Amino acid sequence: MDSSDQDKPSIFHDSYISTTRLGTLFGTAIETGFLLIYWLSGYPTPVLVMLIASILISLAGLIIVRVSLHYWLAAHLTILGLYIALIGPGLYTGGIDSSSMIWLVFVPGTAAIMAGAKNSLFWAVISAATLVCIFILNRVLNIDLTLRPTQSIDRFTDLLVVLVTITLMTLLNEDLKKKMVIQLERTQKKLEFLSTMDPLTNIYNRRYFFDRAQVELDLSQSSHGQVAILLLDIDHFKRINDTYGHFIGDQVLCGTVALCGASLRKADILSRFGGEEFIILLPQTNAPEAMLIADRLRGMIDTTPIKTDSGPLQITVSIGMTVSSIYIPDSLRELIRQADTALYLAKNNGRNQVVRWAPNLYLTETAVRAERDKE
Ligand code: GH3
Ligand code: MG
Ligand code: MG
Repeated sequence: MDSSDQDKPSIFHDSYISTTRLGTLFGTAIETGFLLIYWLSGYPTPVLVMLIASILISLAGLIIVRVSLHYWLAAHLTILGLYIALIGPGLYTGGIDSSSMIWLVFVPGTAAIMAGAKNSLFWAVISAATLVCIFILNRVLNIDLTLRPTQSIDRFTDLLVVLVTITLMTLLNEDLKKKMVIQLERTQKKLEFLSTMDPLTNIYNRRYFFDRAQVELDLSQSSHGQVAILLLDIDHFKRINDTYGHFIGDQVLCGTVALCGASLRKADILSRFGGEEFIILLPQTNAPEAMLIADRLRGMIDTTPIKTDSGPLQITVSIGMTVSSIYIPDSLRELIRQADTALYLAKNNGRNQVVRWAPNLYLTETAVRAERDKE
């Protein structure tokens, strides 16, 4: 295998193998067809010998790619076979004026689809040099090897095979393009999923939340509406981990998400903010509505045990809630800070409750923290 293969995307590698498999078969068949036609048309022995040589070389390529998957060597042998099969009849059917010479165009093209761009360039140089040599032979040195019998059908054969080859190469190219686009789309979807979802709970992650929430906030501000933000934290979650283990803790996280999903509206954006903390954006929601939704959510979690492998577990959550102002545009960061302060005070007030943010809460939070520091 070509050493540079390691750097190539696997789709190219697979494509080279399949085109080389097809190419060795196609090359051998075409050269055999040529041999028959030229032999029946009474072409001289040197042409037939060259065609037999080309068949044997292509056959070697065919065997190699089937036995060892060594497509790079097989591809080069097939291209060499093709090259000899073109030069032989070309030299004896009019040299530089022979229609067979147009076939040299396919040598680099075939190399490209069977072994990649670098190999194509190599064969392009060989083909161009060959044309120059034949030109010099025919026009400068005046050596003409033409031995065409009067009833020759080589022009017809050339044109027909050119047609078939171009069609085949175009189809192969289209097929590769299609496969690449499909793979690209799949990868893009996977990346999108990975970059926006939380792998444990299968809800949106923090990054996605910030993007979507900003869009919703901008929308609400331009329409003088309001959005609400709920910051929800499972109470004493560490105890669940400590008592039942991390695995059961994970099941509780997923169960909490399922309960939230069942209680929220379709347009609400639920995301994992980190650890056992979730953030919810409620679009087009004012404070009384948000309070209702938050308390319904809290109550539902409080009264619905979560199924785990250690049996049903009862948990509670604390929620900090805030709504954007209709009059003064809030930044998303500021709203989250408000919800976080409200959540802190919900915890401090005894947990399992919803606290709505109000401007005086910043002072309360500072006072509570100062009090705690003293203790
Ligand atoms: P509080 O009521 O004050 O919120 O107390 P708490 O125990 O819920 O909060 P604390 O911050 O002390 O502990 C949170 C724990 O959540 C600690 C951490 O190990 C656990 N945790 C974070 N992420 C995961 C996770 O993905 N799976 C599990 N099982 N545990 C996690
Ligand atoms: Mg907690
Ligand atoms: Mg927490």
